[in-house]
Amino acid sequence: MNKPHISFEFFPPQTPEGVEKLTAARKRLAMLNPEFFSCTFGAGGSTQDRTLDTVLKIKSEGYEAAPHLSCVGSTRENIRALLHTYKDAGIKRIVALRGDMPSGMGSIGEFQYANELVSFIRVETGEHFHIEVAAYPEFHPQANSAREDMLNFKRKVVAGADSAITQYFYNADAYFRFMDETHKLGITVPIVPGIMPIMRYSQLARFSDTCGAEIPRWMRKTMEGYGDDVESVQNFGRDVVVQLCEKLIAGGAPGLHFYTLNQANASLEILHRLGYQ
Ligand code: FAD
Repeated sequence: MNKPHISFEFFPPQTPEGVEKLTAARKRLAMLNPEFFSCTFGAGGSTQDRTLDTVLKIKSEGYEAAPHLSCVGSTRENIRALLHTYKDAGIKRIVALRGDMPSGMGSIGEFQYANELVSFIRVETGEHFHIEVAAYPEFHPQANSAREDMLNFKRKVVAGADSAITQYFYNADAYFRFMDETHKLGITVPIVPGIMPIMRYSQLARFSDTCGAEIPRWMRKTMEGYGDDVESVQNFGRDVVVQLCEKLIAGGAPGLHFYTLNQANASLEILHRLGYQ
């Protein structure tokens, strides 16, 4: 089977033990030669320093590091400073997002949507960064309609995005349909499926409710039936995700981006079963 490129996403660890564990996880994941490791960024700047520390550490280990950068609640001045810090550190790729304002946090800031951030990055730093943006095959939870969401996705590409990473999904048809629609709109940038390995059902259900990713009923019912039996949930989840990835690869997905939740095992087991060594 053809093996598209892979990438792994982390969140910035909060403690020295977390940093150590993540370094160990990264070492194992690096054996599969990923294209890059990315690190999330808390909207409103809550993890700004830890995201920077994490990407600098990844870079110092000799890997390509891609910070996520969310613009909601921020100012042009803040974003400009951060872009120049990343550029000076030799970072070449950024995942540009709107983000979600944490509840109770102040004003929306100077950027309303991710397309404005993409334009700003291009104005400030030209072609220095490879810009990734988010895509939603099952549509963004705040979208007025599927059509408007597609057009809003196109705005990010027109503003200068080089490629996109999707929200996770478990229904391959949603991705293939999304790809067909993007082609009809003349969008040709690579759109890489985001893959969420299944570790704990309750955690996955919670995430999915907030971000609008659907867990199909047959999967929910099966995992609910396992109750506290984490091993059965993980075995089932692995089978489902391996089959999903096989379909995506066979259907021409240009890459696979794993939401690792800072754990190596689940992603590694899936990738080994797909033939990545
Ligand atoms: P946008 O593309 O701005 O879209 C947001 C909503 O507004 C959509 O409903 C869209 O249809 C609508 N919209 C967009 N542009 C316009 C416009 N010009 N006019 C009117 N409506 C418009 N969040 C974080 O806080 N930190 C992270 O590190 C992070 N990493 C992520 C990585 C990936 C791969 C993905 C898929 C998501 C990530 N998120 C992260 C979550 C993301 O911030 C949220 O999903 C957020 O709600 C939307 O961000 P966006 O960049 O997709 O926004």
